[in-house]
Amino acid sequence: MALTGLDIYKLLPKTNCKDCGFATCLAFAMALAQKKASLDKCPHVTIEAKRVLESASQPPIKLVTMGVGDKKLEMGNETVMYRHEQKFYHPAGIGLLVEDALTENDIADKIKKINGLTFERVGQIIAPELICLKNSSGNKDLFVKLVSKTVSGSKLNIALQSQNIEALKEALKISKDRRPLIIWDGSNLDEIVKLAKEYKAPLAVTCASPEEAAELTKRIKQAGVEEIVISIKGKGISGKIQDFTFIRRTALKKNERSLGYPLLAFTSAVEPYAELAEAVSYVLKYASLVIVKNIDKDFILPLLVARQDLYSDPQKPVQVEPKVYEIGKVGKNSPVIITTNFSITYFTVAGEVEASKVPTYIVCCDAEGMSVLTAWAAEKFTPESIDATIKSLGLDKMVGHKRLVIPGYVSVMSGKLEELTGWKISVGPREASGIPNYLRNYK
Ligand code: SF4
Repeated sequence: MALTGLDIYKLLPKTNCKDCGFATCLAFAMALAQKKASLDKCPHVTIEAKRVLESASQPPIKLVTMGVGDKKLEMGNETVMYRHEQKFYHPAGIGLLVEDALTENDIADKIKKINGLTFERVGQIIAPELICLKNSSGNKDLFVKLVSKTVSGSKLNIALQSQNIEALKEALKISKDRRPLIIWDGSNLDEIVKLAKEYKAPLAVTCASPEEAAELTKRIKQAGVEEIVISIKGKGISGKIQDFTFIRRTALKKNERSLGYPLLAFTSAVEPYAELAEAVSYVLKYASLVIVKNIDKDFILPLLVARQDLYSDPQKPVQVEPKVYEIGKVGKNSPVIITTNFSITYFTVAGEVEASKVPTYIVCCDAEGMSVLTAWAAEKFTPESIDATIKSLGLDKMVGHKRLVIPGYVSVMSGKLEELTGWKISVGPREASGIPNYLRNYK
């Protein structure tokens, strides 16, 4: 938990010498609490106070990174229990399980299929981030073969799951450039920690309870591995979620460093809908990485969508660029529809325009990413703002007519808009689903 200004003040020398540039130690403490000053500005702070203050300024849940470059996956560093308190920072990674007990052809097919699991939604690309390679055969050679096939066949991040130290050693040699996550469920902790240190790889440890997790993370940290992930085994879905919630709350509210690490969950349900519900539950409460067995498109897409929705910033609507979008082969006489730049609004309207097969211009007004009715109520989508948009985009030079279709929900502004712009205003349907029929009959 972050220290308050008063907590910090108690640790300062309280001489009011002003060397930090602040009039008093209290003013400096307040600025530190608000992160408007840095501790090094006070040259008189004691080593002990410095240690306490620096440790308190560390994030309550450690940031753990696996992978390298653009594809790297960052986990943790969250600061709140609920998204509406601020926002969540690092979307839970989605990993797909591939076991070495499969035949070579099945492995190749699976990797190919996984590589194709990329989707576009509301203008963003969504995809799973990693492949979790499991040494379920217990055989070192089979595992090494699987790792080597995956390294050459996919650019996704890699997690290595095995209880066999020798198999992991070989696997790490092959995949070290990808900075894989090691998932350990074996007994010899010291050896695996040594290996994680040698390869500078993050280490996920499997524990039976939060108490055991706290004990193990302390040991691992003392041994020199800082990037740790906690996995809880057994317990079923509700037990796991209970433990995850306890761990998150204890790390955030009680500043318990031994539990301040990202959480990893494996799905256990067999039936696809049950597995999907389980995976989404872990994304909601509070896994930073969820590993699933099902790699079907119809399973992965809703999971990615649920994650995308949860991890969007509640204070910042998803927006598209305010500009003119051309749908189909538009010409001088194509209709012009106006709407706001709320991403979901634009993509819904664009989808219906495409379905109408009538080439159409869609003008997105800058309404700070709000939907039509919200923007109208907040006075961000008004006759004046639409008039300014039409002029700034030079719409009259783009089309050979002066006719504009506005959303049915804001028909009330049509008179004033016509007066301001000099364009003939037509009132479109209230719901986007009415667009295809409207455009087909538009004259
Ligand atoms: S430099 Fe340190 S001791 Fe001096 S006023 Fe600032 S906080 Fe207080």
